[in-house]
Order: sequence, then C-alpha cells, then structure tokens
Amino acid sequence: MSWRATILTLYPDMFPGPLGHSLAGRALADGTWALNAVNIRDFAADRHRTVDDTPAGGGPGMVLKADVVAAALDSVADGRPVLAMTPRGRPLTQGRVRALATSPGAIILCGRFEGFDERIFQRRAIEEVSIGDYVLSGGEMAALVVMDACVRLLPGVMGAASSGVEESHESGLLEHPHYTRPPEWEGLAIPEVLRSGDHARVARWRRAQSEADTRSRRPDLWDHHGDGRVQPPSGARQQKKEE
Ligand code: SAH
Repeated sequence: MSWRATILTLYPDMFPGPLGHSLAGRALADGTWALNAVNIRDFAADRHRTVDDTPAGGGPGMVLKADVVAAALDSVADGRPVLAMTPRGRPLTQGRVRALATSPGAIILCGRFEGFDERIFQRRAIEEVSIGDYVLSGGEMAALVVMDACVRLLPGVMGAASSGVEESHESGLLEHPHYTRPPEWEGLAIPEVLRSGDHARVARWRRAQSEADTRSRRPDLWDHHGDGRVQPPSGARQQKKEE
C-alpha cells in the first residue's frame, strides 16, 4: 500500500505543483505515494458556495467556517493522521516527519484568510502544525513542505545514495558541510582531510564540523541534542568515543 496524502484546500490546482518533479515526482508517478486534492468549496451548503465568514468580535479578514471544513474532512477521514497547517501549531520536526512517513499517510487541511474557526479543533482530532515562525498567505505551501519531507523518507525514493541518517536534524545535529570538484575554486581549496582517502579521519572531521556548526549556528539544537529524543547514528557515536 502506498503512502496516501489527501489535501483539503480552496486551491486544489496548486497540487502536486513542485512535488510533481524530481524524486517526489518520480515516486508519485511510480505509485510509491498518492496524492488527492479535495476542494473545500465543494462542501459548502449554500448556492453561493460560501466557505468563510467575518470574524466574531470584529476585525479584518475572513474565517473558514467550521461546518464546511468539517463536512470536507468527514468525507475523507479514514484513520490517517489529520494535520491542519497553522502558524499557531506545533513546529514541525524531523522526528514528527519520520513518524508520519511510517504511517499510512496524512490528511492535511490548508487554511486561507485568517485561518479556521477554532471549534473545528475542539470537535475533530486534528493536529495543528506550523512550518516555522513566520506567516504565509495560505496553508498550501506548508502542506507541500510537510509532504516533501515525508515522501523523501519513503522506501526507495532517495535510492541507495542516501540512507538519510547523516542528514541535518536526523541526529539532532546539523550536517557537516559538503565540497565537490574543482579542488580549488576562487582561491579556496577543499579541506585537505577530505582528499586524504583516510575514511576514519574524514568521519572524525565531519563529526567535529557537525558539532561545531551546530553549537555556533543553532545553540538551541545543541542544548538538546542527545536528549534521548533523537539518537545520533551509531557510526557517529563510535567516532565520538575514539576522540
Ligand atoms: N491569522 C492567522 C494567520 C493566517 S495565515 C494567525 O495570525 O495565526 C493563512 C493560512 O496560512 C493559515 O490558516 C495557515 O493554513 C497558513 N499558514 C500561514 N503561516 C503558516 C505557518 N507558519 N505554518 C503553517 N501554515 C501556515
């Protein structure tokens, strides 16, 4: 059974969008995952197909109606986790992505305007997810982000080239920097150790870079890495002992 994403949106034409390309696009074409975009407007009850209304208490913008969103959601709910994209949600993490990628798929609600009537979250089991501390104009691009992060972890999508374990955030650390030919560019040489052919030295250097970069760039991650929440890859742990 393939991983199945169902998107509830006012703009179904935005999908698959960028996910129709490259690795995700190939995986979509070969059935590794499936995508279905449902128009929330199809569940409006009146002849004007109204999906939003003015905010109670006043103020600018419009609010997505709980009754219409619930009707759309109920039409596709089948036990898969239901996510709503909202800047008020819990920030997305690689750990959550990994768990979602091993579930049967996801149902993703995309907001527009001022967002959803809060009562939808009281009446349906919905996980509010944010992709970061900034505000987008709609949930569609956030949903694409969530799906992209999940799909690349599905078996076969990345190929043998990457197991994913060394990637930034997989171990709770940022990944080490990368270099490729030419060996010298604009007066900058590739670090000598990377051309030494000494795999153990390369591994130690990468681990040290990874730790130093995490400490300086992301002290917030550094403080929590190895909390038990995220485990470093076993290879990396061995290298740490060697040092
Ligand atoms: N008034 C809301 C913002 C609405 S933005 C507030 O201040 O909290 C419109 C829609 O864009 C949201 O309903 C949500 O679906 C999407 N969106 C905006 N920023 C987002 C973010 N950081 N993460 C996930 N979704 C986001």
